[in-house]
Amino acid sequence: MALVINEEECVSCSVCADECPNDAISRGEDSFVIDPNLCTECADIQNQHRCVEACPVDCIRTSLSQKKESGGLYQKFLRSLS
Ligand code: SF4
Ligand code: SF4
Repeated sequence: MALVINEEECVSCSVCADECPNDAISRGEDSFVIDPNLCTECADIQNQHRCVEACPVDCIRTSLSQKKESGGLYQKFLRSLS
């Protein structure tokens, strides 16, 4: 998983989806959801996630397990450029 949206807190405002450069966020059944295969954790900017910054209710969380996959994230970022 990449970043995770807390479905109970999400108010489905779609602001995060508009901010994501990789179209990784879409409307799910009960809340908006992040596609871990598309999310690069905004690897092009340092220490910032556009969706997290934009969310008005602060319901997007980073996944600790994802921190171990930084090499994989960089590869995803490179793929997102092509
Ligand atoms: S961290 Fe960046 S790439 Fe990942 S879902 Fe949020 S805005 Fe999109
Ligand atoms: S910005 Fe936050 S509240 Fe709005 S859709 Fe995205 S996760 Fe849900």
